[in-house]
Amino acid sequence: MDNLPPYLFARIDEMKEEKLRQGVDVIDLGVGDPDLPTPPHIVEALCEAARDPKNHHYPSYAGMLAYREAVAQWYRARFGVDLDPKKETLALIGSKEGIAHIAEAFVNPGEYVLAADPGYPVYKTSTLFAEGKVYEMPLLAENNFLPVLEDIPADVVKQARLMFINYPNNPTAATAPLSFFEEVVEFAREHNIVVVHDNAYSEITFDGYRAPSFLEVDGAMEVGIEMHSLSKTYNMTGWRIGMACGNADIVAGLGRVKTNVDSGAFDAIQHAAIAALTGPQDCVANACAIYQERRDALVKGLTEIGLDVKAPKATFYVWAPVDDCMAFAAKLLDQAGIVATPGVGFGKNGEGFVRFAITRSIERINEAVDRMRGLDL
Ligand SMILES: *Cc1c(COP(=O)(O)O)cnc(C)c1O
Repeated sequence: MDNLPPYLFARIDEMKEEKLRQGVDVIDLGVGDPDLPTPPHIVEALCEAARDPKNHHYPSYAGMLAYREAVAQWYRARFGVDLDPKKETLALIGSKEGIAHIAEAFVNPGEYVLAADPGYPVYKTSTLFAEGKVYEMPLLAENNFLPVLEDIPADVVKQARLMFINYPNNPTAATAPLSFFEEVVEFAREHNIVVVHDNAYSEITFDGYRAPSFLEVDGAMEVGIEMHSLSKTYNMTGWRIGMACGNADIVAGLGRVKTNVDSGAFDAIQHAAIAALTGPQDCVANACAIYQERRDALVKGLTEIGLDVKAPKATFYVWAPVDDCMAFAAKLLDQAGIVATPGVGFGKNGEGFVRFAITRSIERINEAVDRMRGLDL
């Protein structure tokens, strides 16, 4: 427990609570959780499945075959990637669950895991639970927030078992070209490293950008898996359903840990997930159009107050450069009642940035922009 990182958002949280107590109308742009509802046809599928007693028992460990077939069909249609539903897909109780358990399967105490800094905190904590060591790959603006693999010290590479990557990226909102994934495959092959690509944001894209799957790249199926999820795509964060896809041995290793920990995802939720993956997809395009309007409003507002922000091509985050991220976030909350996440909460290389989540209505984002104007930030 002592090795787990401290909760760096505590100070901001305390300040937010204090503002709420004072009756301030706080605009929370801190949380990475869609404000939009799950599309009705998916909710309907859950209701119907929940009424059927056949779905009230322990689910299968790996997930219903029908769910895994729907996942394979979706991967084929969306990415042109062929997956054997029985061996190359696995149901997850949200992708966070798969990320948290994968290190147990492949990392021995003292071995290295390569994880981005800044990054989704679970990559580091899953490594610590497996008693592995984290090597933090810096994500820097000058490298388009991609890790530089040649910069990883040779003695670390030698003891590295696993590498986490995540594009479209949280928190930086960066995207990766296929050539980066090709580089990762070559590196993983050469050094015998398991690659785990977290693709939670592949469907939240703008301006015609299409995010690839890591598994599209030649050789990726030999070295890695992809964690994916319905959470962000279909506004289903509360439902807890995701999937691990890719190399059969890696999928099996994760599955083996999971059979000893959990007993699968509720069958009725898997039925709803099938409805999501195989049903009409216009709900996804509609959500992206809503996020895009919000993104444009926020980027314009931040630019007007003098921040050098670029409009991201994907994710529902804006990663804005500032001088001192804790001071900026504190001032923003104190003077304007706006919550944003200090970048350092995602790792030391997050210093100099704050993350805004555009998971609030356009009216609230416009209100936030109005409040920021005229502030001395
Ligand atoms: C939201 C998120 C996830 C996990 O989502 P689940 O709800 O657990 O599927 C995983 N990775 C990143 C980077 C995320 O932002």
